[in-house]
Amino acid sequence: MQGRMQDWPLTVDRILDHAKSWHGPREIVTRSVEGPITRTTYADVHGRAKRVSNVLKGLGIQTGDRVATLAWNTARHIETWYGIMGMGAVCHTLNPRLFTEQLVYIINHAEDRIIFTDLTFLPILAQIRDQIPTVQHIVVLTDADHMTDQVAGALCYETLLDQASADCAWGGFEENAPAGLCYTSGTTGNPKGVLYSHRSNFLHTLVTMGADVLGIRATDTVLPVVPMFHANAWGVAFSAPAVGSKLVMPGPKLDGASIHELLETEQVTFSAAVPTVWQMLLQHLEATNGKLTSLKRVVIGGSAVPEAIVRRFRDDYGVDVTHAWGMTETSPLGTQGTPNAAIAAMDAEAQLKFKLKQGRPPLGIDLKLIDDGGKVLPHDGTTFGKLMVKGPFVVGEYFRGDGGEILDADGYFDTGDVATIDEHGVMQITDRSKDVIKSGGEWISSIEIENIAAGHPKAELAAVIGVAHPKWDERPLLLVKLKAGETATKEEFLHYLEGKIAKWWMPDDVVFVDDIPLGATGKIDKKLIRQRMVDYVLPTAVAAGAAVAATVALAAPPEPKIYAPEPEAHPEPEAHHAPEPVAHAPEPQAPEAHPPEAPAPETPAPEVHAEAPPVVHHEPPPADHTAWSPQARPVQAERVRGLTVIEPTFTETKFPGAEASEAVAEAGFPAAPRLEVPADPLPAPEADVFGDTPLTLPFVPGQAKTLRKADRQADRKAKSGGFGNRYLDLALLGALAPAAMVGAAMLGTRFGLMDWKTGLGLITLEWAPKIALLSVATGLVGVIIALFAGFGRLGLKAFLVLGLSLATLGGYVWMRQAQITNPPVNDVATDWARPLTFSQRMMRERGVDAMPVEFDPIVPLGAEFYAGRRVADVNAETCAVARPLILAANTAAAYARAKSAMEQAGLALVTDDPRQGRLEATARSLLFGLRSDVVVRILPDPRGARIDVRAVDRAPTPDLGANCSRIGRLMGFMRS
Ligand code: AMP
Repeated sequence: MQGRMQDWPLTVDRILDHAKSWHGPREIVTRSVEGPITRTTYADVHGRAKRVSNVLKGLGIQTGDRVATLAWNTARHIETWYGIMGMGAVCHTLNPRLFTEQLVYIINHAEDRIIFTDLTFLPILAQIRDQIPTVQHIVVLTDADHMTDQVAGALCYETLLDQASADCAWGGFEENAPAGLCYTSGTTGNPKGVLYSHRSNFLHTLVTMGADVLGIRATDTVLPVVPMFHANAWGVAFSAPAVGSKLVMPGPKLDGASIHELLETEQVTFSAAVPTVWQMLLQHLEATNGKLTSLKRVVIGGSAVPEAIVRRFRDDYGVDVTHAWGMTETSPLGTQGTPNAAIAAMDAEAQLKFKLKQGRPPLGIDLKLIDDGGKVLPHDGTTFGKLMVKGPFVVGEYFRGDGGEILDADGYFDTGDVATIDEHGVMQITDRSKDVIKSGGEWISSIEIENIAAGHPKAELAAVIGVAHPKWDERPLLLVKLKAGETATKEEFLHYLEGKIAKWWMPDDVVFVDDIPLGATGKIDKKLIRQRMVDYVLPTAVAAGAAVAATVALAAPPEPKIYAPEPEAHPEPEAHHAPEPVAHAPEPQAPEAHPPEAPAPETPAPEVHAEAPPVVHHEPPPADHTAWSPQARPVQAERVRGLTVIEPTFTETKFPGAEASEAVAEAGFPAAPRLEVPADPLPAPEADVFGDTPLTLPFVPGQAKTLRKADRQADRKAKSGGFGNRYLDLALLGALAPAAMVGAAMLGTRFGLMDWKTGLGLITLEWAPKIALLSVATGLVGVIIALFAGFGRLGLKAFLVLGLSLATLGGYVWMRQAQITNPPVNDVATDWARPLTFSQRMMRERGVDAMPVEFDPIVPLGAEFYAGRRVADVNAETCAVARPLILAANTAAAYARAKSAMEQAGLALVTDDPRQGRLEATARSLLFGLRSDVVVRILPDPRGARIDVRAVDRAPTPDLGANCSRIGRLMGFMRS
C-alpha cells in the first residue's frame, strides 16, 4: 500500500516557478561583469531562463547532457542554471581558480557540450579551446556591444536570447534525474565529480531554509559572496528564490571596498562567505572607518572561522556570525553553528566557544565519529575521530564511479575531516586527516592551534604544519602572517597560546611570513606551505643533533591513525616548547670565514653577477630578525653570502605567462611615451604686421581727427587686418583650445586646484582631440587665405596656427600610440602568485577615492585592449622588468639595498618596517602630480633574499607604462 498524496517530483525548476508566481517583482541586483549595476526581477529571470532552455534545445542539448558554466555570481548565471536544469540537462559549474590542466581534465571527464562563460574567463578558454573536443559551443554571457572574438566561434548570450522564445515547458523528468555537477578541488589525485540530483538539491534547499540553518526570509536582502562555481554558493541560488529574498550578486568584484559598497547601497541584511572575504571587508572598514548599517547576519564556512572575526562583527558592528561546515559532497551544508536552547541560555562569552565550533547537523544530515577500525567514538567533546556523514543530499558515489565504493557498510561517507562532537551535539573540525600532526605516536590538531593563534591581536592569518623531528616524528610549526604594520616575537605568540592548548601541543617554533597561500577554494594550502618550508629545520631538531636530516614531512603523509588522547603517552612538554636560544640571536657571520658562496640554482641556471660588498657581510641581521625570517637561523644563514644578483627563472616564481616574456626580458621595456604638452604657444604679434597691408589706407599719425567716416572704417579694417586676419585670430584660438585644456588640467591637478578626476576629464574629453583635428583643417584654410590675401602679411600667422594645431594633434596621436603600445593597466607587480598588499596606513594615505587594490584585478571590460584579462597575465606579457629580484644576501642587507633604491628613485617613504620586510612609498607623476603608491617586500629565499615590488596608481586610468618603468628603475638601482 502507498500513501495517497500527490505525486509532485521534487525538481528545482519548481523553485523558480514559485519565485515567479509568488515573488515575481522581487529584485535581483548584479554588479555586472561589464561594470554597471544591473537590476532585474524573479519574474524576468524566469522568462529569460526559459529562453535559455530553448537556446539549449536549439543547439541540440538533450536531457542528461552536461552544460558547463564558468561564471561569477550574476543574474545571468542564475538564468543559465535554471535554464539548464529546468530542461533536464546537467549544470556543471567550473571553478576558474583551478589550474588549467585541472579544468581541461574536468571538462573532458564530464564531456561538457556547451560552456557558458563570462568575458573574464575567455582568455582561459582561448588557451584550452583545442584541448576540449567535446565542447561544441562557447556562449559568452554578455551583449552584442561587449562581445569579442577572443575565442573563435563563440556565441553571444543576449543575441541568442533575443532570438529564442520564452515558451518552454520545464520538468517532466523524475526527481532523481541529475541536475548539477561539481568537481572536488582534488588536492590528491584527479578531481572527482559530485552529481547532484533534482531531489537532493530540492531537499537541501528545504533544509537550508530552516530557521536554525541559513534561516533567510522573504524580508531579507541576501548577498552571496560564496561563488556559484564552488559548492553551489551554499545553495543560496535556490533558497533565496524559494523564500523570495532580494538577491544582490557581487559579480567579479570581491574586494572589501566593493563588497562594502553593495552591502550599504543595497541595504543587505544577510551574507555568506569564506573567512578571507570577511577579513578583507573588516580591514577595509577599519581603514576607512566604514559602518555596516543594515547587515544583521553572516554565515561563515569553507574553513574555520577565526575568533577575532566573530568578535569584531559582534562587538564593533552588531552582526551575528554563524559558523557552518560542509563540503562539495554534502551539497554543501552539513552543520550550522546556531545555538540550541542550552547554549542560547549561556552568556555571550560562553556562547562564543560554541560559535567557533562548526555546529550541529540539521534534519537530513547524520554524523558519526569512528576510529581507524571503524569503532564508533563517543560525543564527549574531546575524543576525535574520522567524521562520517550520511543523508539524502550526501554523495553516494562519484561521477562515473571514480574512487569506487565510498560509503562504509552503514552508508556513511568519509569526509576526510577529523572532528570531535560534544555533549550538545556540536561538531568541531580538528583537522583534515592528512594535516593532522603525529607527535610521539599521538595526534595534535593543527586547526585548533591555528585558530587560537589567528586570534592574537597582531595576527592576520596563521597556519600550523607538522615538521619532521628526529625524536617525536613530527612537531608543530606555527606560521604567522602579521597584520600590516605589526611586529611581534616568537615568544609573544607562544605566550599567547599558553593555557589555551595542551603543553605538548605547543609549537616548537614560530615563523613570521609575508604570505600564507590559499588554494583554489580559499582554504589554507598546507601542501604548498609544506613545499615552501621544505628546507626548514626546527630549532629543536637542530638541538637533537639532526639539523641536516630533519626536513618537512612531504608528499602524501601516511594515512593517519585515529586515536583517543591518552595523556600518559605524551612526550615531555618541556622538550617541545623550550625556546632554543640559538634560534633567536643568530651571530653575525665573519666574511673571511664564509667566502661568497655560489648559489645552487635549480635548472635552468640563472645568470649570476657576483659581487660582495664587505659592508653587507659585516652587518649583523637586526636583533629581532628571526621574528620574520626563518632564513636568519644560523643553520640557514650560512647559505647567504655577499650580494650576488640572481635573476630568478619563471618556473620558480610561478609568474603567469612568464615563459612567453622571458625572451624579451633582456631587451628591457621600451620607455613609455609621454604626452608632451605644447610649451608657451604663441609669440606676441609683430607690431608692424598691419603696417604694410595693401588692403588698407596708409595711416598717417596726426591725421586721425580729419579722417572721414569711410576712412575710419577703412582704418578699423586696417587695424583688424581684414577678414583673413580675423579668421586667423579665431583659428588661433581654436588651435590653442586643446593645448590650453591640457595646460589647465596639468597645472590644476599639479597645484591641487582641481581633483584628478576633473583634471583628467579635461584632457580625455572626447572633443579635445576633435578640436585639435578641426584646427588643423582651419589652419590649412588659413594658409590658403593667406596665400590670396597677402602671404607676406598673414603667412606667418597662418603657419603659426597650422603648426600649433599639428603639434597638439601630434600630442594626441602620440598619446593614442602610447595607449596602443602600453597595456591599459595601472597596477604592476612582480608577484601575483602571492600578491603584495598595502598596509592599512598606506590605504588610509591613498584615501577612499583611490582605486581599490585587488588581489587579482582584471583589465576592465570596455578597455580597447586586453579587456577582461587578468592584470597578472598582462603584466607578465607586457612588462619584462616586472620580475622578482633575488639577491644573494641576507634579508637585512636586501632590505637596506631596497630602501636606498627607493630613496635614489626619489620616492617619498611612508612605511619603513624591516621586521616585516616591507617598504612603502609614494611617487608623483611629473606633469600632473598624480600619485602612485609603491610597496616593496623582502622575503627570505633559498638563494638569499627575494625582492618583490608592486606599484599602483590611485587614479584608475591607464598609466601609459609609468608603473612598469618605475619598477624597472627601482630594480635597476637595487641591482647596481
Ligand atoms: P570543499 O569540498 O572544497 O568545499 O571542501 C570541504 C572541506 O572544507 C571540508 O571537508 C573541510 O575540511 C573544510 N571545511 C569546510 N567548512 C569548514 C569549516 N567551517 N571549518 C573548517 N573546515 C571546513
